[in-house]
Amino acid sequence: MKKVVLTVVLALLCNFLASAQFGKIKLDKAVDAAAKGVKSFTLSDAEIKGYADEYMQWSDAHNPVCKTTDKDKGMKEVADRLAKIVSVVPANLTKELNLNILSYYVIDVNAFACANGDIRVFAALMDLMTDDQILAVIGHEIGHIVNKDSKDAFATALRVSALKDAAGAVGGNTVQKLNDAQLSDLAESLANAQYSQKQENAADAYGYEFLKKCGKDPNNMASSLGVLLKLQEEAGTPENSKFNKLFSSHPDLKKRIETLNKMN
Ligand SMILES: [Zn+2]
Repeated sequence: MKKVVLTVVLALLCNFLASAQFGKIKLDKAVDAAAKGVKSFTLSDAEIKGYADEYMQWSDAHNPVCKTTDKDKGMKEVADRLAKIVSVVPANLTKELNLNILSYYVIDVNAFACANGDIRVFAALMDLMTDDQILAVIGHEIGHIVNKDSKDAFATALRVSALKDAAGAVGGNTVQKLNDAQLSDLAESLANAQYSQKQENAADAYGYEFLKKCGKDPNNMASSLGVLLKLQEEAGTPENSKFNKLFSSHPDLKKRIETLNKMN
């Protein structure tokens, strides 16, 4: 990236190292919350969708979203490239899942999906990959949406952060207006969340089939992980490298690639 754009919020979001492996969501905070006696309460699908919309509006307002109409040449290039990549996603899938796929112009190697169908692919990740590998990452993220991983993780994050004091006061289809502190709290909670190995493998398998549906070589799913593995291997020791710090908690890339290669 020639141009580095970071916002304060990004400092929270960058932990989304999900980044590297497109979404590792661990439920540490949920476990902590349970231990502290945070009550679980029901959230309807409509509520989760409403809060996800609210959260993503906030996230988009705090991060540089690349647009095809951007005056900034670099941001426009990223937006144009992503629009071209996304153009092969089947229209019925986009409609059914309410997909909205955009890029943030930031230096983190990352991508994430939110429960409302929003997917954000970071420009630094796009810099490292071919168009078809980026499509694979998008397919993997769609897999998390289809498999309800994004929804479950978001509902958990809501319960332990933004709505932690609201137990009993929510229910039905009432979506509260979250304040800035609640939204920051939610961002942090999501950043600390991780998906299980099983969820990641399922999302990889979805990405593999998705590439076929898009008329692309499914091996791009494994090769996109290979790009990240190479980055990890080049990164050196954790003390010297922000990349290795980013990847150190994810020793599973090799395993995921092996699993995908067995699908051939
Ligand atoms: Zn993932």
